[in-house]
Amino acid sequence: MLDTAQAAIRDAARTLGYDEKMIEALLEAEAEHVFEIELKNGKKFPAYRVQHNSKLGPYKGGIRFHPQVTLDEVRALATLMSLKTAAAGLPLGGGKGGVAVDPRQLSPEEIEELSRRYAAHLGPVIGPAKDIPAPDVNTNSQIMDWMVDELAREYGEDAKASLTGKSLSGGGSEGRTAATGRGGVIALADLLRHLGKDKQPLTVALQGFGNVGYFFAKVLAEDCPQLKIVAIANSKLTAYLPDGFDVSQYSTEAETPKLEQLVQFSKVEQRPAEAITATEADILVLAALEDSVTVHNASGVKANIVIELANGPVTAEAHDQLAARGVLVLPDIIANAGGVIVSYLEWLQNLQGEHWDEAKVNAQLASHMHQAMTAMLAQFDKGQTTLKDASFQYALTRLLQ
Ligand code: NAD
Repeated sequence: MLDTAQAAIRDAARTLGYDEKMIEALLEAEAEHVFEIELKNGKKFPAYRVQHNSKLGPYKGGIRFHPQVTLDEVRALATLMSLKTAAAGLPLGGGKGGVAVDPRQLSPEEIEELSRRYAAHLGPVIGPAKDIPAPDVNTNSQIMDWMVDELAREYGEDAKASLTGKSLSGGGSEGRTAATGRGGVIALADLLRHLGKDKQPLTVALQGFGNVGYFFAKVLAEDCPQLKIVAIANSKLTAYLPDGFDVSQYSTEAETPKLEQLVQFSKVEQRPAEAITATEADILVLAALEDSVTVHNASGVKANIVIELANGPVTAEAHDQLAARGVLVLPDIIANAGGVIVSYLEWLQNLQGEHWDEAKVNAQLASHMHQAMTAMLAQFDKGQTTLKDASFQYALTRLLQ
């Protein structure tokens, strides 16, 4: 992942004519914190925080708890965060953290202790003007709340603006749960408008029906009724309904519905999970996991537009194959930036001691997404490039200038 991320940056930077020294300097992380967390019961876990680039503002990026976390993975993710915050036009840099741990093997008390020790160790180098972590794989608002509490205890100050993704009562933002899916809809609508297709009735196939996929479907139904979702997949099946799904009837604000609930219609045709990428649809939305479209299944993609809502769902080789066929791939660093944008808005609210209502958060999210899309599309219109290259080139221009 690190090699792929760095190769993409080198390519984009060379295209823009930046010299090798500048490019290599950009690839280096500004600081790396590598340490070990030892719990009271003697269990030990390797822990990391990579602070990649702060030229545009404090480092921003999640903390993941996963057995396969390594320093190289955290470096790659931190690098991509620098690109994502730059591409999204935010006054933030890029960082990432992780602990190599399988949280399913820990009790809730051990997870709390691990989280608090992680925050306490990094206390001197994180904070509202330095580095603002957030949740990632296997971490959540409860863990962020514990970390805020630990920082406040250790350092004796209000630490709310030091982390985002907190619970609402702990200083979190309205609109965060739906932000990534909502941002994806805004990005897709902007792209269709740019292509002159925004009034056309188009069909959508959606891979992933978790947090991101569900809210994408829900907001799409509200904001873009001309777009019809004809297929939805999770890890077990693809549900196909040519008349289109109406996910709104299953919605509760508290939890996302299961795809199995939607499948109870007799009209729904069930197909294998992997069939989703080859669905007959104009738009393929990838909201499940990385490496979902590879050289092995790229030729089966029927859509003309692919939206990367997950991180890295199209491999570099598959991206080139799709681009050669004229398929437009809206890249992850823009398409799924809604999450980091609302994290940014949470930080702003904490700094100002305010709590905005959901309508205000959504309006600000839309404004930031439109700006990011406009910047990427302007670069794209200069020609001879893909949307992915255009977004990298815009981000690098911000970082290197
Ligand atoms: P989630 O765990 O809530 O949902 C994941 C969904 O993908 C589930 O429906 C699962 O069944 C499905 N899935 C897993 N394997 C599959 C397979 N092989 N085929 C089809 N479907 C499969 O996760 P999420 O929060 O919705 O995140 C989805 C992706 O978006 C991840 O790549 C994540 O890193 C990325 N992302 C999430 C956010 C966020 O705010 N949650 C922000 C940026 C990026």
